[in-house]
Amino acid sequence: MNIRISVRTKLFLSHILIVVFIAGTAGTYFYLSAVESLMNGLKERLQASAGLISQTLDAEVLRHIRAEEDTVSPEYAATLDQLRTLKRMNPDIAFLYVMRLEAEKVFFIIDSDETNAQALPGKNYDHDLPTLRRGFTSMIVDDEISTDEWGSFLSGYAPIKNAKGQYLVGIDMRADQVREKYSALRISGAVSLFAAILLAFILARILANRFMMPIRVSISRCSSIAEGRYDEQLDIQTNDELDRLIEAINKMSSSLSLSQRTTQAAVNSLHQAKNELEIRVRQRTADLSEVNNKLSQEVAERLVAQKALQAAATIDPLTRLFNRRVIQERLDLEVARNSRQNTPFTLIIVDLDHFKMINDTHGHDAGDSILVETGVRMKGIIRGQDTLARWGGEEFMMLLPDTDAAGGLEVAEKVRVRIADTTYYFAGQEIRITASFGVAQYDGDLDRATMAADKALYQAKSLGRNRVVLADAES
Ligand code: GH3
Ligand code: MG
Ligand code: MG
Repeated sequence: MNIRISVRTKLFLSHILIVVFIAGTAGTYFYLSAVESLMNGLKERLQASAGLISQTLDAEVLRHIRAEEDTVSPEYAATLDQLRTLKRMNPDIAFLYVMRLEAEKVFFIIDSDETNAQALPGKNYDHDLPTLRRGFTSMIVDDEISTDEWGSFLSGYAPIKNAKGQYLVGIDMRADQVREKYSALRISGAVSLFAAILLAFILARILANRFMMPIRVSISRCSSIAEGRYDEQLDIQTNDELDRLIEAINKMSSSLSLSQRTTQAAVNSLHQAKNELEIRVRQRTADLSEVNNKLSQEVAERLVAQKALQAAATIDPLTRLFNRRVIQERLDLEVARNSRQNTPFTLIIVDLDHFKMINDTHGHDAGDSILVETGVRMKGIIRGQDTLARWGGEEFMMLLPDTDAAGGLEVAEKVRVRIADTTYYFAGQEIRITASFGVAQYDGDLDRATMAADKALYQAKSLGRNRVVLADAES
């Protein structure tokens, strides 16, 4: 399992562990030193007290006290009184007594105890305490607390002067007193340790928070940069390496902001360029479509003009009939057809009679009108494959394909009658006119046929006009 521990907690724990370790080590050291110095102090006091008291006693006096019955002796009373006075003056002392060593056995001489448990002279002390035995020859203090029927004590011993190793004075300090002092020491040690840990806890928290603050701010700033907010700047100073991190984040956000602005500007100008291009394309398209329209119009106009030109080249402007050029082309075609298929065709030349007089009598416009109307009537009579053209002035020519001279005569006669029977009206005047016809069938030479038709027409005029004459085959 992956346990997540925050940096703040790690910092806090490392601080507190170091402080606890140092405080614990230092505390233990100081506690042990204090215990040792307490013990040494107690021992020194015990030893000093035992030494002092031993100097106030004299073995020669004590030799008179050996057994219970000696309690009545003045030496016993005086010494007991002296010891009790000393004991009262020193509250640390629980028991103060004098002992004698005889034949390796230890006996009480005087016990300052004021209770019923007081040991009387001559009472054997049957605990074998090495320190006590050495106390008969030198000043010594217990290293450990010892226990007997009177309780647990820390004892100090000193030999009495002139005793030659036979007498000592002993002082007992109650162990519970010693323990009390120890416990006071432990409590103050524990309180100091607790105070040190509490202080360390508070300081570690403050330190971890202070250390984490710029990191938290930096993380939140990085998140806001990731969300695209580049324009903010961190305004904190830690006066340590984290300042460089903050500076780097500020620099990064400045350059991101700059590049965002640059990109935005580029996007804007691209957008503008695109819009301008669109406008120009629209303008160009409009221009092109205008040009296109103009061109189409021009093409249409040209077509109209071409048609007009074509018409002008082929159509007679007054009568709207084909002109001489067209009928000559058609005559050439018929000549070619005749030479291939030997199909006959006939020419008719029509000339209006006394047309000059019509002009003179009714006016030139009346003459024009009669030319037009005569054309319309003649066209109404001939077939679709026949061609009628204005040959010149008041003359017309008809080309009748697949028609021989007899057929030509028939058509000419029909047209003649129609013209002669028609009354023309112009400007309220009734006008009548006749026409003369020269008919010739093609006989292998176009010029000859044309001239023959012309000659026949001339004959019609000579014979009195308003008639049809077929060209003479020999002429
Ligand atoms: P004929 O019977 O012998 O043919 O006598 P004519 O008067 O018709 O013949 P002539 O050749 O003397 O005169 C032809 C006239 O036709 C002369 C001319 O003014 C007229 N004419 C020719 N072309 C036109 C035209 O386009 N319009 C008008 N109104 N008159 C024309
Ligand atoms: Mg004429
Ligand atoms: Mg004429």
